[in-house]
Amino acid sequence: MTDFTQLPTPCYCISESRIEENLKVLKGVRERTGAHILLAQKAFSFYALYPLIGSYLNGATASGLYEARLGAEEMARPLEDRGIRCENHIFSPAYREEEFPQIVEYCDHLVFNSWNQVRKFGKRAAEAGRSIGLRVNPECSTQEGHAIYDPCGPGSRLGVTQREFERGLAEPEGRAFLELLEGLHFHTLCEQDSDALEATLDAVEERFGPYLREMKWINFGGGHHITKRGYDIPRLERCIRRMREKYGLTVYLEPGEAVALNAGELVTTVLETGENGVSWAILDASAACHMPDVLEMPYRPPLRNSGKPGEKPYTVLLGGPTCLAGDVIGEYSFDRPLREGERLIFEDMAIYSMVKNNTFNGMPLPAIVLEEKGGNFRIWKEFGYEDFKGRL
Ligand SMILES: *Cc1c(COP(=O)(O)O)cnc(C)c1O
Repeated sequence: MTDFTQLPTPCYCISESRIEENLKVLKGVRERTGAHILLAQKAFSFYALYPLIGSYLNGATASGLYEARLGAEEMARPLEDRGIRCENHIFSPAYREEEFPQIVEYCDHLVFNSWNQVRKFGKRAAEAGRSIGLRVNPECSTQEGHAIYDPCGPGSRLGVTQREFERGLAEPEGRAFLELLEGLHFHTLCEQDSDALEATLDAVEERFGPYLREMKWINFGGGHHITKRGYDIPRLERCIRRMREKYGLTVYLEPGEAVALNAGELVTTVLETGENGVSWAILDASAACHMPDVLEMPYRPPLRNSGKPGEKPYTVLLGGPTCLAGDVIGEYSFDRPLREGERLIFEDMAIYSMVKNNTFNGMPLPAIVLEEKGGNFRIWKEFGYEDFKGRL
């Protein structure tokens, strides 16, 4: 299949060459600083491209057993077959006893979320030769407006605060548990520039500086908008060098979004149009099912060849085909009225889209298409009724 206009809709169309452009930027950071960069699969688990991603980065990181297994099977194994070393990390807020043996099998670095998790699982992982880290909470909120994405907010369950860190250390086996640790991990950013990272590092040093000296690595988490135009890469690199030179640490970054930023579209078709004081159109893609961050974040996704409301002559409110009144993608303007059967292309839909979609209202899942480097469109996967029924 080579013709874009013949693709089934809705579909996510992922561009191999744009992923590779992002990977080149990330590899530059690796090469200039010695940092290790991992794909956070949570944002983008399109494993058709894992061998490509693994050839530019150091490996992958997972949020649980399934992502860990996917990283092992689709990235680490194929690369290791080619003689390329590939790391497989995991952080989970709470591991399950019955899954832990498999996790230790798949992962070389395991990050725990509390001293109690270290107590339950740490020794077993260390005895299997795995490198162990603890996630800390530097209590340094650098983002406004997105409380749902702020792990430093009040009552956060993610990461150990300085107070809890020291409380755990003071317990009878505290020192022994500290000795199991080889790394500290924090993840506090979301779509942010390196000034926020710099401020966060100040807080990490202030609260956990003495313990950094006892570690081998530090993981800066994700949320670094490294591949966005205008991101301050030199400042990021100064942050990496600072940790390396001052404490002798290997620095890990685990971006999700930055790997696949602006590297895919959601292609949709207009099903129906109408009026109710405003012009509206119903598409075959749903915000609630196929671009949940539009409602969750919330944000207005970029739409090719459209303007802001009122900017072009015809303004239309775009919504999905579900019965949820709030399944609204946003208001956009066009040069001419929208017509039934017309295609609309939402941009920057590779990240946090296919990994989050659902079949609410019995909606079909969008097909997944790979736009290969040569310009060929390859339908990777299509879904049907059985995918809806099979989960219920
Ligand atoms: C979400 C997450 C990431 C990736 O974040 P992006 O914003 O996609 O870069 C990395 N590490 C952890 C622990 C996360 O929860």
